[in-house]
Amino acid sequence: MIGPEQAVAALRVSEERLRYVTQAVTDAVWDWDLLSDEIWWADSQDGLIGLDAGEPPTGTQWKDRIHPEDRDRVVQGIEAVTRGSGDEWSDEYRFRRADGSYAIVADHGFVIRDPSGRPTRMVGGMSDITERRQLEAQVMRAQRLESIGTLAGGIAHDLNNMLSPILMSIDLLREHVASEDGLELLGTIEASAQRGANLVRQVLTFARGVDGQRSPLAPEAVVRDLARIVTDTFPKDIVLRTEVPADAWALIGDATQVQQILVNLAVNAIDAMPAGGTLTVKVRNTTLPLDAAAEFPDSRPGTYVRLDVTDTGVGIPRRVMDRIFEPFFTTKQVGKGTGLGLSTAQAIARSHGGVITVRSVEDEGTTFSVLLPADPAAREVRAPHRRSSPAHGLGRVILLVDDEPSIRHFASTLLERAGYRVITADSGEAAIAQYSARAREVALVITDMRMPGTDGRAVIRDIRRITPAIPVIAMTGMDLPMMFDKELAGPPVQALMKPFNGEQLTQAVLRAVTAH
Ligand code: ADP
Ligand code: MG
Repeated sequence: MIGPEQAVAALRVSEERLRYVTQAVTDAVWDWDLLSDEIWWADSQDGLIGLDAGEPPTGTQWKDRIHPEDRDRVVQGIEAVTRGSGDEWSDEYRFRRADGSYAIVADHGFVIRDPSGRPTRMVGGMSDITERRQLEAQVMRAQRLESIGTLAGGIAHDLNNMLSPILMSIDLLREHVASEDGLELLGTIEASAQRGANLVRQVLTFARGVDGQRSPLAPEAVVRDLARIVTDTFPKDIVLRTEVPADAWALIGDATQVQQILVNLAVNAIDAMPAGGTLTVKVRNTTLPLDAAAEFPDSRPGTYVRLDVTDTGVGIPRRVMDRIFEPFFTTKQVGKGTGLGLSTAQAIARSHGGVITVRSVEDEGTTFSVLLPADPAAREVRAPHRRSSPAHGLGRVILLVDDEPSIRHFASTLLERAGYRVITADSGEAAIAQYSARAREVALVITDMRMPGTDGRAVIRDIRRITPAIPVIAMTGMDLPMMFDKELAGPPVQALMKPFNGEQLTQAVLRAVTAH
């Protein structure tokens, strides 16, 4: 016989056991009376369900807490099981926590029926799987980005080789065309090819990461250059405001790439203000403490220049906010948006050791904040701007190496017109042979980096064994990082990004031969 005390003790033990089991198997256990609609809950995590004390919880209340977009599906799923002959139910849906946020839950239960087969009760358990789902999404996103990068990088490389001859031949054709109409047509072709080239450059920046020269840049000059672009090319109903403190620190970066970030952000701002508005660019010195990660994820403590680009435009809806930095994500119509602006800007910022964050209010506007590492002690040294004169070559000899015949043809024509003498080589092996024979004459070597057999890197190494100080220009569509490899002895190798036009080629040559 069991006495009342023993019975109570046994009850306590089983109650305790139930509580532990509840915690062990899942986050919440429930028992739902289908006839009275009452639910009994055991919530192991205070956060998940958190019902008000004294409130007799019901199935209706539970349904109210399912996310509106999931509610019908979940309820129909349960009804299908209770009405049918099955006993098992499970689903995954968003459930409102006590604090108002939504959890992703995996819920499962089984139906208990009376002898006539009528469903009277359902018992089940619910787990909060929010974190797991988020991690999975992150991994998938990283994988997707990687494959997009690989694919896009390959296409961009081929496109570069197609655009190079187009851009170079335009400069040459201009000399032969006399009519206004013809020149106008050439202008259109050039603008389109240049647009293509810019697009390719953005894809490569994103796909391959970025490297480049780092030097101190005055924020004032960076903002002034942007202001010029904005006032020259943007609609007149956009008001531009800039704010740069007199004591702004120098930021450490690649001038062209930093400009690219700001232009991309400005273009987006303009797009967001179709009826006009105000674009504000504001610079501030910022020191990030150790615990700044909340405001600027992935940032390291240190000194930064912060550039805020603010528009008074349409704002960014919450549901797209998570995706705006994805490559090829765009809400703009075909032909208008590429979805590469922000992903490129972010790739550049990261490669500089910086970060980009965004705040936006729908119908009010958006602010992108770019943080780039600063050197409070440094001052910008700007090279005086040089224009190319038509014949600065003075008969100097250039060795030009490329396996692409069209590039050899156009580049040597352009350089000869600028007064240089050009020797060409169609492979790395030929280049080394040519150079060994004529090392004394050659003032500059221009080489493609990607060639079958002896590549550009090997060419540079071998000719520098003969003449350590020979200036070199490396033509490249990608693979920029290896350009600045310490292994290549001698003065720095200058990079010339393909595709380039005549002006860019002669400017690079002029820089290389005069820096010397
Ligand atoms: P694209 O401009 O080609 O669409 P981006 O990567 O530059 O590609 O931008 C991605 C998306 O982010 C845009 O399509 C737009 O929806 C959103 N976006 C970016 N900047 C802004 C802004 N300043 N205001 C509103 N939406 C923006
Ligand atoms: Mg854009």
